[in-house]
Amino acid sequence: MSYFSELGLAEPILRALAVKGYTDPSPIQRDAIPALLEGRDLLGIAQTGTGKTAAFSLPSLHRLAQDPKPRQNAGCRMLVLSPTRELAAQIAENMRGYAKFLNLTIQCIFGGVPVGKQARALERGVDILVATPGRLLDLIDQRALTLKHVEIFVLDEADQMMDLGFIVPLKRVANMLPAGRQSLFFSATMPQAIAELGRQFINNPVRVEVAPQSTTAERVEQFAIHINQAEKQALLTLSLRDGLADDAAEKATHGAIDRALVFSRTKHGADRIVRHLVAAGIPAAAIHGNKSQAQRTAALGGFRQGTVRVLVATDIAARGIDVSGVSHVYNFEIPNVAEQYVHRIGRTARAGATGVAISYIAADEKPYIRDIERLTRVKLDLLPLPADFQNQAARLPAPARVAPAAPQGDRRGGGRAGGQGGGRGRPQGDRSRSDAPRGDRREGAAAGEDQGERKRHFRPRGPKGLGAHKGAVRRAS
Ligand code: AMP
Repeated sequence: MSYFSELGLAEPILRALAVKGYTDPSPIQRDAIPALLEGRDLLGIAQTGTGKTAAFSLPSLHRLAQDPKPRQNAGCRMLVLSPTRELAAQIAENMRGYAKFLNLTIQCIFGGVPVGKQARALERGVDILVATPGRLLDLIDQRALTLKHVEIFVLDEADQMMDLGFIVPLKRVANMLPAGRQSLFFSATMPQAIAELGRQFINNPVRVEVAPQSTTAERVEQFAIHINQAEKQALLTLSLRDGLADDAAEKATHGAIDRALVFSRTKHGADRIVRHLVAAGIPAAAIHGNKSQAQRTAALGGFRQGTVRVLVATDIAARGIDVSGVSHVYNFEIPNVAEQYVHRIGRTARAGATGVAISYIAADEKPYIRDIERLTRVKLDLLPLPADFQNQAARLPAPARVAPAAPQGDRRGGGRAGGQGGGRGRPQGDRSRSDAPRGDRREGAAAGEDQGERKRHFRPRGPKGLGAHKGAVRRAS
């Protein structure tokens, strides 16, 4: 008998939780589930990793199952909106697990894949629909979907939605939802603009706030290295090579790497990093909005299975991705929004584990570090460059000019990538000054991610008082 049964969830749900091996509800589940079972609206301030998916899924599944209704053509009873495809897919997968013993259909729709098949899947209606906003509205405009039967509406990662420029689509959705539905609104942070957006959806909500972000930060060993932008690639390559080696435990400065997530500010930057790593014999894959859905799925799959132990991601692509066993997070560029740093390092140290985060700080990134240290109240441990860095860097091979399809395998011992020795004798990345990620401009891609990246580029950076972060940061003590 698990503690979940005390929350009043139906037996088939308890059985599914037992299969998943959950015994205790997480704090957000403990707080949210009883109120949601009563049909209350909810304002949840929580980031991924807190168990919020189950917090909104379990009571919703319970309510839908207790009140069975025939499916309505092109309709759904529950709608979950997520900012990114990966998160949508992950939510749907989790919900399918929780609904394993219930007779409820769950469909997931997002952009980047043909719309026709998704429209057909909705023809007879579904019980639960997990969607990204753009594709949702496409399907509504095509009359393949109606929201008039929605009983439960969940808006997940509202702050990320806003960053991605989804505000107008969300307002359209708000106007289409039936008045009597239950609404749940989640965001990792709650600045004024998000709170205002929330008011359009939720009515007299129960407020649940968990996962003080600094708690995660406190479980992660955080290091920083001052380094020229042009030398970052060589440092990363050498650091990964040591950390992934069989004798890494003795050799690597920051311990053996199980899986490493490298954050790049831009999509082209991510591709460039992968090219360099592959050239050096380190299997790596990139995940960002310019990749096809199949490439993204393959990259994530390889990373989950451990066949590719280095994933290079943009913030938005990585947001919400739940992969256990990420031991190291590398900040190849420092995010100019301090909260983003917390999200990044939160990819490691999941489920109580500890992790290592290493930030590469170029001279122009120093102010960002000050913001980050103020937000997390953790001082980064400064590390020197490895001994003999310049010599080791000079021996690294240069990458192929064109990125092969992702995910990219180990090309050690020949092949195009490793074979071009044109750059021998100079540190990797020394071309990157002229096309440095900071100034990178992207061409057509997943619209949301582009907007998000552009926004961050031009975001004015004023002095941020700690007060601005109060909602997001609560010390564990
Ligand atoms: P989420 O914040 O929803 O992304 O969940 C983070 C991770 O915690 C996911 O891998 C979940 O499967 C897992 N999880 C959620 N609730 C529980 C629980 N009560 N016990 C154990 N694991 C959980």
